[in-house]
Amino acid sequence: MTPSPGNPDALVTEITPRSQDFSRWYTDVVRRAELADYSPVKGCMVIRPYGYAIWELMQQALDRRFKATGHVNAYFPLFIPESLLKKEAAHVEGFAPQVAWVTRGGDEDLEEKLAVRPTSEAIIGTMYAKWVQSWRDLPILINQWANVVRWEKVTRLFLRTTEFLWQEGHTAHETAEEAEEETRRMLGIYREFAETECAIPVIDGRKTESEKFAGALRTYSIEALMGDGRALQAATSHNLGQNFAVAFDIKFQARDKSLQHVWGTSWGMTTRMIGALVMVHGDDSGLMLPPRLAPYQVVIVPIPRGNWQETVLPRARAIQDDLTARGIRVRLDDRDTYTPGWKFAEWEMRGVPLRLEIGPRDLDKSQVLLARRDTREKMPTPLDGLGARVADLLDQIQRQMFERARKFLDEHTTSAASWDEFETIMEGRPGFVVAAWCGDAACEAAVKTATQATIRNLPFDGPAPEGACVRCGRPAQTTAYFAKAY
Ligand SMILES: [Zn+2]
Repeated sequence: MTPSPGNPDALVTEITPRSQDFSRWYTDVVRRAELADYSPVKGCMVIRPYGYAIWELMQQALDRRFKATGHVNAYFPLFIPESLLKKEAAHVEGFAPQVAWVTRGGDEDLEEKLAVRPTSEAIIGTMYAKWVQSWRDLPILINQWANVVRWEKVTRLFLRTTEFLWQEGHTAHETAEEAEEETRRMLGIYREFAETECAIPVIDGRKTESEKFAGALRTYSIEALMGDGRALQAATSHNLGQNFAVAFDIKFQARDKSLQHVWGTSWGMTTRMIGALVMVHGDDSGLMLPPRLAPYQVVIVPIPRGNWQETVLPRARAIQDDLTARGIRVRLDDRDTYTPGWKFAEWEMRGVPLRLEIGPRDLDKSQVLLARRDTREKMPTPLDGLGARVADLLDQIQRQMFERARKFLDEHTTSAASWDEFETIMEGRPGFVVAAWCGDAACEAAVKTATQATIRNLPFDGPAPEGACVRCGRPAQTTAYFAKAY
């Protein structure tokens, strides 16, 4: 896709309007903004440099939080022998349909086939069994940044691919209480990360039995709402209880000298989160990135008039240096093969939060023009004090993008008291529907068959259930968040 210089309209027309076809709009934005592309390998995508830069910023922000809570990084093998994967029955059953197998190495058939990791509980549990002897060896707080493979029939860039990138935390603890505390702590970190860095508000809560991780005691999730009213599971945190410790024989001598199994957790977030960024914040002009995750927070576009290369350009470079010194990520677009109008549309489409225009007339007035991506507001701004003003604006944009997403979430969260009401809301673009539920998996499945909606999670401190289950009319056990989901 070589852009045609000088024709700013060409950029925008390459993107399907969001209101017309959300799904096509999404794919257009991801490809046109050069976040990712399809690859010659079926089901696998290429993450392009601009998309990977966003992932790196996400990684850094999460990694800081993991380390601040005592976790360390390590790396485990990509291949998992079949015998290990089979040790935890629910685990293997849950993942079997999606596992890719290696059966041959070089020109020899393998004696035991190897799974390409769909997740690493089996291989990590095997190692923990070797490393843990005493309560003094606990807790183990390890995270791994890696790729995983889960065979998919449908490909959607960032949202559903056979191979994707993620982090997986795996911890082992002395007591059930510590494991539960860790599981909730990491869910809290995901929530804070989503809200602070991604400017994405989320609903946190517990997954139902039918939606929990294969082999876990309990799964918690954060769920975000996309611009089309569909939910997206943004991260999960699992309390594994002693299930994997028993299967993999991870035992320790306790303080009272008895031999006990450890209590485990695992938790993960993936490159899906980039898809969420696109779908929560983007508009008809393309991507809109929250400043904290924008590879370029500011793009400087010099206006080429007169002897601009001798006058405007040195000034633009000085501004770039000044902003960079303040820790702001800046791109100076001094390409002379493109018109300013084309560059404006290009960087708007690629979601840069703030554009800084500078031309000879601005220099005469000792000012620049700042243009916000989120509000489209244009502000003549004095050169004097510019750095502080830009830093302040970036904070403001970050905050207001979150507030806007929060408002959308609130406006698209409704309560349903009856099944008729529930079905009516679920037509179209519903968002979250809060309703009372009996706790029966068969009833949950019936809701899905009728409306496509699933229970996203059960809120920790949601309203107490009133009266009867929205579907079957039996007494309600809990309040649930229902939505159609990615
Ligand atoms: Zn029911």
